[in-house]
Amino acid sequence: MEQPDEGVVLTIVCDNRSRKPGVEASWGFSCLLRGLEKTILFDTGGEGPILMGNMSELGIDPGEIDSVALSHAHWDHTGGLGDFLAASSDVDVYVLESFPGSISDLAARAGARIRVVTGPTEICPGAVLTGELGAAGGMTEQGLVVRTDSGRALITGCAHPGVAGMAARASEIAGGQMTLVLGGFHLLKSSESSIRSVIEELVEQGVRLAAPCHCTGEAAIEIFRSAYGDGFLDCRAGTVVDLTALLRDV
Ligand SMILES: [Zn+2]
Ligand SMILES: [Zn+2]
Repeated sequence: MEQPDEGVVLTIVCDNRSRKPGVEASWGFSCLLRGLEKTILFDTGGEGPILMGNMSELGIDPGEIDSVALSHAHWDHTGGLGDFLAASSDVDVYVLESFPGSISDLAARAGARIRVVTGPTEICPGAVLTGELGAAGGMTEQGLVVRTDSGRALITGCAHPGVAGMAARASEIAGGQMTLVLGGFHLLKSSESSIRSVIEELVEQGVRLAAPCHCTGEAAIEIFRSAYGDGFLDCRAGTVVDLTALLRDV
């Protein structure tokens, strides 16, 4: 008998903006992925109490999380790790080789299992970390590729190496184009023309849905909103996205 399709569901736990009273807005990013073999927390926001408070407000039990993947070592993505591990340390923590040792030390002390990512790495079927992207000397980062029956999405932390380049690399790794890119796009200081060329590159790659949040910048978010039209997703802390349905219906 076929299993009913529960769908892959993404919940934004921490973001600079919030959509729900009781869910606190704060500079940083964290999201939760449910519905695959593993329940995955991608990034942990900037502050432990906000991460834990928002999780509780959103009905997320720390004990249900199997894996924590960190996009890059900036405080606004790793700051909540200690408080999370104090609540639940029976997890795999995925870090890049280039992270400062303090992050792995903290995770090891809490009793978590450290997984050092040195290339594209499958967390479970349907969830693959890209491994370190970006030029040495710059701020490097990994993205999370999510595959449902209906399409693929790339989740970014800050997209420091550039969101279009990350999406292109993610497509190579996944063997097919990204339909959705969601996360921080780091375009706070970019000119309108460079933001528009990023959008052009994404559209050329076949990215039909865009969900810029966190460090994308308000102005850039508005440019994405008008350029993408119906393909724009307004994502904030408290937003819940059924990825399976979204990617099917696009
Ligand atoms: Zn950030
Ligand atoms: Zn960053």
